[in-house]
Amino acid sequence: LKRRTFIGIDIGGTNIEIAAVGVSGRLLARESIPSNPERGPKDAFVRVAEALPRLLGKRRALTAAGVGCAGLVDPTRGKLHASPNLPSWRNAPLGRIARRHLGVYTVVDNDANAAAYGEYVCGSGRGTRTFICITLGTGVGGAVVLDGRLLRGRENFAGEIGHMTICETGPRCKCGNRGCLEAYLGSDALLDDAMKRLETKRSRYLSKWVASRTRPFTPKTLAEAAGGGDRIARAVFAEAGSHLGTAMASLINIFNPDAIAVAGGVANSFDLMRADTEKAIRQRAFRESSRAVKVAQAELGTDAAAVGAALLARDSQEYERSTG
Ligand SMILES: [Zn+2]
Repeated sequence: LKRRTFIGIDIGGTNIEIAAVGVSGRLLARESIPSNPERGPKDAFVRVAEALPRLLGKRRALTAAGVGCAGLVDPTRGKLHASPNLPSWRNAPLGRIARRHLGVYTVVDNDANAAAYGEYVCGSGRGTRTFICITLGTGVGGAVVLDGRLLRGRENFAGEIGHMTICETGPRCKCGNRGCLEAYLGSDALLDDAMKRLETKRSRYLSKWVASRTRPFTPKTLAEAAGGGDRIARAVFAEAGSHLGTAMASLINIFNPDAIAVAGGVANSFDLMRADTEKAIRQRAFRESSRAVKVAQAELGTDAAAVGAALLARDSQEYERSTG
């Protein structure tokens, strides 16, 4: 008898991360394939299906699959409404396409929801009752887990922490609003902030980069510069940390959570932000609530959304079986 195995598929604008997860939630194998979004969702799932034998091996059988995707996702219909990173996939029926190509029970969710669920079940949110996860990357995602269940809301779009207004007169956000957290903490915003500071100030690494431009300027470049002691890069992360703490202070007052995790690629730089994040929390949130909360970097790293999607598939299938 082959062992039951769950696959999580995290679809981003550049790469698709695929994770094979056992019944216990343990990550067994992972693989990254290019998204090539211009070829459409069917092509993507054909390539995911091709990767399955490599991920499962001979002793494991696929039981269910979870898909996590950036953008507005309707989990009840398994449909992607719109995604800024996958513009041509508008209204794609991801659940139907995945089921057809993978041949198993499938769930579809927002990637930030998937990441939060992964962290809740087997990462930094283990053992908590009220857990919040903020995903820092190109965009800023978020999700809230209450007593083991994702907070969904009326239209399933709850938890958009990236579009929480932190300044009414702030910069324009991609969503149309002004002063959203994402308008300060999205990776483009961080890079823009660095460029703006470089117009009037000089620093050890970034000034050199601006003069030579031998490699692309990314959040990773910025993090490396900050790690090397670059003044401007450090100032960018310090200010980002302060904005993050301002957003967390509101979340702490609203939810009184056990823990808040910071996930996503930019979360690797959380140590550069932490002091200012904690300072903003101390200044702004109720003392009793802010003392109780644990703020930490996500433990599953960049696997969080793929592992979480697999766990959502596992638990959703189990729930449907138990309720008939
Ligand atoms: Zn916004």
